[in-house]
Amino acid sequence: MTATQRLDAKAMSDAEPVTRKTFDEVMVPVYAPSAMVPVRAHGLDLWDQEGKHYLDFTAGIGVTSLGHAHPAVVETLCTQAEKLWHVGNGYTNEPVLQLARALTSATFADRAFFCNSGAEANEAAFKLARKYAHTRFGPSKSRIVSCVNAFHGRTLFTVSVGGQPKYTEGYEPLPAELLHIPFNDIDAARAAIGDDVCALVVEPVQGEGGVLPADAEYLKALRALCDAHGALLIFDEVQCGMGRTGDLFAYMGYGVTPDILTSAKALGNGYPVGAMLTTDDVASAFTVGAHGTTYGGNPLAASVALKVLQTINTPDFLARVKQASVTLVQKLEAIKHDYPQVFAQVRGRGLMLGMVLTDAWRGKAKDITKAAETQGLMLLIAGPDVVRLLPALVVSDAQIEDAQIRLRRALDVVLSAQ
Ligand SMILES: *Cc1c(COP(=O)(O)O)cnc(C)c1O
Repeated sequence: MTATQRLDAKAMSDAEPVTRKTFDEVMVPVYAPSAMVPVRAHGLDLWDQEGKHYLDFTAGIGVTSLGHAHPAVVETLCTQAEKLWHVGNGYTNEPVLQLARALTSATFADRAFFCNSGAEANEAAFKLARKYAHTRFGPSKSRIVSCVNAFHGRTLFTVSVGGQPKYTEGYEPLPAELLHIPFNDIDAARAAIGDDVCALVVEPVQGEGGVLPADAEYLKALRALCDAHGALLIFDEVQCGMGRTGDLFAYMGYGVTPDILTSAKALGNGYPVGAMLTTDDVASAFTVGAHGTTYGGNPLAASVALKVLQTINTPDFLARVKQASVTLVQKLEAIKHDYPQVFAQVRGRGLMLGMVLTDAWRGKAKDITKAAETQGLMLLIAGPDVVRLLPALVVSDAQIEDAQIRLRRALDVVLSAQ
């Protein structure tokens, strides 16, 4: 085929409808998406190209916590879209200032930096921690300590700080002065944190690593160790924050306050936005020009995030998350009880829950989520051995009941095929 013929063929196929097959033809192959293509959703209800209905217990991986197309968020986005989208960092804007004020008054933080994703929020946090340590203590205080199986994003820095070698293989040379320690192991943390450490970063509830909550004693010990060695404590709340655990941020439920907190995912309910929150003292290590991003905190993102925050951060909303969690955990425990050959444990906090597979079922989490999808229930995995549930925080008791029925049906199908 000549170049012109190839262009003609491409122009012709532009007119054809896109399907899942198109993905394999035109997308860089870093994902292996489901066979169904979602086209429309409302609340926890989602429909694919064929018109088939699904109950969404993934919330776009903990993102659409208010449900799809939440009316107040849609209204906010549309209103702002007619007013002002973007101005660039030579100007500030009203929505970003309102959002920063709301986030700082709701948390330990005095200052906010905005970006577009969880990885960027963590990237900013790690750069800030290095800058802070270097300006206060000198260039040798550089080490960042993080946990095995942690996930902090996919930029080269964040993926290197994350504790999963499968994500860094092939990208060497990696950033230096990083150290990984086992999660929830106080002795390992004590051994790792010396005066050369500028920061320790941890997810209060590990998400991608298997839905594993930190022990309160562990986080308290990390706080004490960081204080003793002049290291900053960073909580990555990209997945567990914004109401997911039943507290606005997980640190509040643990009673341990970090120096830097990162948020993204549910912060924008699907509109890309990330935030790094910190104190006056730590923030002062960043001066004009030290860090930045074009889109961070643009008026569209900021107005959406402010509406999301205002909706989630009410006592009634958060109390309902805790109540829904109790109901869902009861159902999952009953499923574990009725399918003891499949499930060994139900764990997590709030509406961030994982069902851990038994040794006999090790590696088969994806088989279960696929079977669930056939039954019209969307679920996630967290590694090969954990089925993960992250329903929108607005999930009703009826939807919880519906989900457990569909999950049981899926398990029956998988078991009968054994
Ligand atoms: C998803 C996630 C990230 C990365 O967020 P992106 O928006 O994908 O860059 C970082 N940390 C945690 C804990 C996450 O779950």
